[in-house]
Amino acid sequence: DPRFTTTAVRSTCPYCGVGCGVLLARDDAGGLTVRGDPDHPANRGALCSKGAALAETVGLGGRLLAPRVGGRAADWESALDHVAWRLGAIIARHGPDSVAFYLSGQMLTEDYYVANKLMKGFIGSANVDTNSRLCMSSTVAGHRRAFGTDTVPGTYEDIDEADLVVLVGSNLAWCHPILHRRLMAARAARGTRIIVIDPRRTASCEDADLHLPIRPGADVALFNRLLAEIAARGATDTGFLAHVEGAEAAIAAARADRADTGLSEAQIRAFCDMWIDTTRVVTIFSQGVNQSSSGTDKVNAIINCHLATGRIGRPGMGPFSVTGQPNAMGGREVGGLANMLACHMALENPAHRTAVARFWNAPAPLPERPGLKAVEMFDAVAEGRIRAIWIIHTNPAATMPDADRVRAALKACELVVVSDITAQTDTAECADVLLPALGWAEKDGTVTNSDRTISRQRPVLPGPRLARADWAILADIGRRLGWRDAFAWDRPAQIFREHAALSGIAGGFGLDFDISGLAGISDAEYDALAPTRWPVSAARRGGRFYGDGRFHHADGRARMVALTSRPPADMPDAERPFVLNTGRARDHWHTMTRTGRSARLSAHMAEPWLDIHPKDAARLGLAAAGLAEVTSATGRAVLRVRLNNGQRRGEVFAPIHWTGQTAPTGRVSALVAGRCDPLSGQPESKATPVAIRPL
Ligand code: SF4
Repeated sequence: DPRFTTTAVRSTCPYCGVGCGVLLARDDAGGLTVRGDPDHPANRGALCSKGAALAETVGLGGRLLAPRVGGRAADWESALDHVAWRLGAIIARHGPDSVAFYLSGQMLTEDYYVANKLMKGFIGSANVDTNSRLCMSSTVAGHRRAFGTDTVPGTYEDIDEADLVVLVGSNLAWCHPILHRRLMAARAARGTRIIVIDPRRTASCEDADLHLPIRPGADVALFNRLLAEIAARGATDTGFLAHVEGAEAAIAAARADRADTGLSEAQIRAFCDMWIDTTRVVTIFSQGVNQSSSGTDKVNAIINCHLATGRIGRPGMGPFSVTGQPNAMGGREVGGLANMLACHMALENPAHRTAVARFWNAPAPLPERPGLKAVEMFDAVAEGRIRAIWIIHTNPAATMPDADRVRAALKACELVVVSDITAQTDTAECADVLLPALGWAEKDGTVTNSDRTISRQRPVLPGPRLARADWAILADIGRRLGWRDAFAWDRPAQIFREHAALSGIAGGFGLDFDISGLAGISDAEYDALAPTRWPVSAARRGGRFYGDGRFHHADGRARMVALTSRPPADMPDAERPFVLNTGRARDHWHTMTRTGRSARLSAHMAEPWLDIHPKDAARLGLAAAGLAEVTSATGRAVLRVRLNNGQRRGEVFAPIHWTGQTAPTGRVSALVAGRCDPLSGQPESKATPVAIRPL
């Protein structure tokens, strides 16, 4: 197709954190054709089912087309005046901590940067959090605890170069399909072996050498067993351990951990043999690790084993977190989490706060205390401590744990502002003000994928006439609140340059996130920016971290953490005897506001379902394709029964995608209680006690 060699626009898929490059061409009728970008290092031209169907998911159907205030159409000037006036009044009366922003890993880095600057630098609160809290915040906390900063040590090339890849709590085949394809290519080329650690037998197990159907929540116990075996077999790297603090205590705690993993001794031995006997081992982990009340410990249990053996930051070796969303990493980089500052600087560090305040020319010292993390934030809305919340590109009334309570809290909140591309969502129904935003293929900026590669998202479609870029909406409010100079940008390249310049300060503090080498790029260079893995500074460019044994704690050493495994926060009992695990379907994304528009994608799974072992189903009187009522301590759902031998007995699985708009009784987030990891604040979405009965 000649359009793809002449006029195609290079952009990035808006779904998962693999961050695949796409080529976009408009057809004569104003439609879109999408191909994989052969020059993008993440996917080298390949696309999964979701990426390949992108062209079917754009268009004006269901879009929010104009601002709405109090349920009535409004022009932009009066809508923005109203938001600024109400925010200003609430801040003046109740203080800056009475307002909050709840953001999304769908936002571009430039949008995220402006939101973080406005709240932390100018409004004077750290109440900025994001749906990435539900996705990978345990990894952030685990990285910071082990390395002293939130850096992914490895790159996608490590998957190509590994001899053993361990998937922990990751259905890579469905959730990060292009990385799974890379893994399959490595298997074909060099015989890479695969271990899957997952309570469920998923599509990722089909090509695995070993599947370990672990008891939910027992990952720390299993990796403690591995660490104890590493020590017992003399497989530690004593040279590398000179760069690591806490090895002795971590190994002692690992030896003492006798918690049941649900696996046989033979299975555990096979796992330890393969892991210890293979030097090039990459441990990929995802939501099964992160979405847990001990998620941070799980991350550190994995990292402990890599530090003990020195298998980190070298080709084909390392712990590797794969993020759910396209720009979860960009959000981390700008400080879009309530406990982060900007550019991986720390809110609790006075020198970092002072430097950022000076750089932003902030009107007052930056907040010292972390803001409210997602679950706390909506608790505060429910309790009236948060009186105004601005929700951007996410649907918490459908997706937060205890979603019914969140929806009720938003309906009662004094001011709810929602920026979105979609007119009707569970959250939009709770909004006082709706602001129409540009969507994918319309907006302009950057995203960062799971291996630290910054890529451009570029516009190719005009978008609805009245829709606006998120950074521009946020900057307009900043100016209306009185900070004209600080929010004076008129194009995203200016914001990117400011962000890159600020990262130079982080680099000056010795942090890894330093893209100051991009701070001086021209608008044209920004427009043409090719995928670039950070860091990009005078000192270094791209590559891996930590193979040289240099870390970011004050003594320059990494930390192995002494860990004792804990069961999930809520355990099944006679009233609720089953454990509910939640997750994604292969062909849908989040609440289906885009993928739901493609008939082809919806054909894979047309309605919310419940996977259950046939013997459990028979005992309950559930028939295949019948309906099951599932109840938890917080909610109720009705789901279509699927008999699945890959489920452990006593455990069930349901997908997260359906909402009050698409299947009112299929909102599984209403079932999940907001039990959080104490360090990361990430809720436990994989182990909810439920009762099940036929309907
Ligand atoms: Fe998009 Fe992820 Fe699929 Fe790549 S793997 S095409 S980023 S959904």
